[in-house]
Order: sequence, then structure tokens, then C-alpha cells
Amino acid sequence: QARKRFGQNFLTDTGIITQLVRSIAPARNDLMVEIGPGQGALTRPLMDELDHLHAVELDRDLIALLQRTLTARRLTLHQADALRFDFTTLVPDAQQRLRVVGNLPYNISTPLMFHLIRQIDVIQDMHFMLQKEMVERLVATPGSSDWGRLSVMIQYHCQADFLFLVPPEAFRPAPKVDSAIVRLTPHATLPHPVADYAVFAALVGQVFTQRRKAIRNGLKSFLSPAEIETAGIDPGLRPEQLSLADFAALGNAAAARINDTKP
Ligand code: SAM
Repeated sequence: QARKRFGQNFLTDTGIITQLVRSIAPARNDLMVEIGPGQGALTRPLMDELDHLHAVELDRDLIALLQRTLTARRLTLHQADALRFDFTTLVPDAQQRLRVVGNLPYNISTPLMFHLIRQIDVIQDMHFMLQKEMVERLVATPGSSDWGRLSVMIQYHCQADFLFLVPPEAFRPAPKVDSAIVRLTPHATLPHPVADYAVFAALVGQVFTQRRKAIRNGLKSFLSPAEIETAGIDPGLRPEQLSLADFAALGNAAAARINDTKP
């Protein structure tokens, strides 16, 4: 019996499962963690390809089911909330990085993305099944209506690729929405590194709360219109018209201003 409050929709389409595992392309000695293994639809075929797999599942009953049905030897189950889970504990040495996969519970996918990018330094790549609209936001380009805080913050850290669509019939119970697979690959070097990440993140969050207004309004608490112009950006633009490079420039201008006014 699937639990709605845990966002449980179990994958049943074997063609989709095969396609997803092929996209992930596990190598035997990869360090991999699956978020939300559920009844093991993805866990089993991943274990076939791997020497070892970690899995983080919140539902105790599913943990018990997985313990009964999967050989525990090559699988380490963590009964935990992925939103609070410290993924760095799975990475034993600095040489290794973690591959993260999961058919995620859609009700927690945005906070989970932000939780994971806080631990991006230990992550090699991520493959997720998400609501299609969420994937469209992750891979969005400036100027589109999907371009927002999530797109900017994820693309600051990662290359985001839309892999393929998954229809509701691939699951039991079938969700009401279309799904899609996204691949997130952390940049080897950041394309637009900022001087003060906290200021940049706060500025991006703030400006998109007023996405229909000119940035001169949305950025009032960070920068004056003159300072926005000095950063090389037209203060009359709306946030969805700005590129990642523009946001980085604004973030750096705001950080410089904050540091200047410090006593
Ligand atoms: N991977 C399975 C599949 O494809 O059939 C299950 C996918 S289901 C959409 C999401 C899974 O995430 C469920 O097993 C659910 O119990 C689990 N889950 C929900 N919230 C979670 C959380 N905060 N932390 C870890 N797992 C969670």
C-alpha cells in the first residue's frame, strides 16, 4: 500500500527502469546512494551493476521490506530523512565522490535540491526522476518563464540535462503529472564564481520573489539603480531576463557594497 504523505509512486515500467539504469551507467566500484528506494524497483537493477549501494529511505515499513527481500551484503540501508541526511558521511576519503540517484518524492524535491547543493563538493553526479515541470525549471535558459531561483542556483553549481520523459502509467499508483529524468553534473570549475556565496544566494532568492518587476525594485535592499548600472546591468530588466553571469555580477557588487559599509 503506497503512502501518499511520503510521495510514494512506485516505478513498474521495466523499459523505463532499464533506460534509467543505462543513463546512469554504473561502474562496479562507483560510490552510489539511492534516495527513496521504496520497494526496490531501481535498487535491484542498480545492485546488479554495483559492488555496493547505499540507500536512504524514510519509511520504516519499506526499510523492513527491503531488509527482507534484498541481500543485505551489498546494500547499506539508512533509515533517515534525506532532507536531513549528511551525505558527506558516505564518502570515506577525499579521492572519492558520490553518485546520487533517485525517483524522488515530488513534495520534497525543491528543498532536497538545495540540501544537496550544500554538499556538492562530495558529489560526482545526480540522476533524478522528478515532476516534468521541475526538470524544465532545472534546465531552463534565461528569458524563459521557467528560469528562476532554482535554475540559477542549480546551474551555478551544475550542468543540467533533460534526459527523457516518463508518463504517469510508468508508476503504481500513477501520479497526476508527467515526470522526467534529469542529470546534474557539477562543473569541474565554476563558470561564474562569486566572492560571497551567501550574499549571491540571498540576492537571487530576493529578486525572484518579485519576478514581474524591474530589478531596480526587487534589489532595493541590496543595490541602488546606479550600482546595478555600474555592474553592467540595465536596472529596468526583469529577473527572468538576467543570465547566470549577470546574477554573479550583481552578487559581487552587493557583496562589495556590504563589505565597504562595514565599520
Ligand atoms: N524508488 C522507488 C521506485 O522508483 O519505485 C520509490 C519512489 S517513491 C516516488 C519515493 C520514495 O521516497 C518512497 O519510497 C518514500 O517512502 C521515500 N521518501 C519519502 N520522503 C522521504 C524522505 N524525506 N527521505 C527519504 N526517503 C523518502
